[in-house]
Amino acid sequence: MKIKVLIIVAALIFVCGVAGSIWALNAPRKNRVEIKSGGRVLYTLDLSREGNRTFTVSADKGVNVIEIRDGRIRVQSADCADQTCVRMGWLDSAAMPIVCLPHGLVIAYTDADSEVDALAQ
Ligand SMILES: [Zn+2]
Repeated sequence: MKIKVLIIVAALIFVCGVAGSIWALNAPRKNRVEIKSGGRVLYTLDLSREGNRTFTVSADKGVNVIEIRDGRIRVQSADCADQTCVRMGWLDSAAMPIVCLPHGLVIAYTDADSEVDALAQ
């Protein structure tokens, strides 16, 4: 009787472990980022390989200074009117791209599901 319980407990732990690793494998890897301007992809970056740096993206209507630090990305500064892109801070969700509406600039994880992409285009 006791052995049966042990086997069931062991099986449960095993199943949870397998389910956990499958979940971890399917979780989106937040590394690949696209910077788009006016619907065109300007840069595709693998944040896990990028060193810390800042660079400037010039759009027709203005300039955004992008900062990459410790595998994260943000708009450090911009000369747009609303400064929303700066205030959004670090990109941390595939569902919440950094958008600079006045400049038509979008910074988003490319792992976002394709439905979101289709809607945006
Ligand atoms: Zn902006």
